[in-house]
Amino acid sequence: MSAILIDGKSVAARMTAEIASDAAAFQHATGVVPHLVAVLVGDDPASAVYVRNKQKACERAGLKSTLHRLPAETTEVELLMVVEQLNADSGVHGILVQLPLPKHIREQVILDAVVASKDVDCFHPQNVGLLVQGRPRFLPCTPAGCQRLLAEYKIETAGAHAVVLGRSEIVGKPMAMLLIQRGAVADATVTICHSRTRELAAIVRQADIVIAAIGKPRFVTADMVKPGAVVLDVGINREGDKLVGDVDFEPVSQVARAITPVPGGVGPMTIATLLRNTLTAAQLSAG
Ligand code: NDP
Repeated sequence: MSAILIDGKSVAARMTAEIASDAAAFQHATGVVPHLVAVLVGDDPASAVYVRNKQKACERAGLKSTLHRLPAETTEVELLMVVEQLNADSGVHGILVQLPLPKHIREQVILDAVVASKDVDCFHPQNVGLLVQGRPRFLPCTPAGCQRLLAEYKIETAGAHAVVLGRSEIVGKPMAMLLIQRGAVADATVTICHSRTRELAAIVRQADIVIAAIGKPRFVTADMVKPGAVVLDVGINREGDKLVGDVDFEPVSQVARAITPVPGGVGPMTIATLLRNTLTAAQLSAG
């Protein structure tokens, strides 16, 4: 079998066009241009690339984006002050603090400081709570991007066994949460695996849908995948100047029914969802 390639790049481009149209209508009605502010602390080159890509995507969707670049020596208190200023600024609709932060800054303290109504990454306990209850204000960017890919490629999720590899707050947990909700592109039976899971390969082999988000290059091998399964690869791992996912792409694509590439799969969908959340934040703030 040779799998269908799930083309996140083109789905994300379509989503960005939808957002651009909705943002234009919103601006026409209210005079407001949705505004995303990214805060980047230090000079991690990968983080700088991610932020630049997010800014470029904002431009494509007609959203305003601003970058606050702060030196690596910025203290936690100084960063908190920046976040507080952005919280209070009615001209800012979404705040994105690019992770990872330098080691001397506690990420949780900073993320908790972002006011829930501008938390376009959907990390705030209030937003996570709303998501768990099935009435999200914002969508978790990467998991919602994966869900949209399942929808676009008409992958049946109702009653399907979805195995999520990884239990992070940013990907694994919210991914599982989206798929167990009642409703469209959900209603799945979900298993979450992590580093303490026993017989992980045997569990993955039972999956109709595999979502790999552990940060280990080519971890998911062909013998771990049930023939005909759908495989979404969230992982982004650097091997020299090459990016590879958590899935051993070539052999797995001989077994799977459909698979995302890295790059060009889940990554662009994460950014598109961030844009959607920024527009939602502006719409909510306009009442
Ligand atoms: P984290 O490091 O926060 O979490 C990794 C998870 O994988 C943990 O739950 C960990 O288990 C689990 N894990 C690690 N090793 C193993 C193993 N050998 N067997 C089973 N489980 C294991 O990572 P993130 O969730 O932030 O990111 C995961 C990957 O996705 C990374 O490559 C990251 O770069 C990428 N990513 C991609 C995005 C995109 O837009 N495409 C967005 C966000 C992340 P435990 O909890 O027990 O430690």
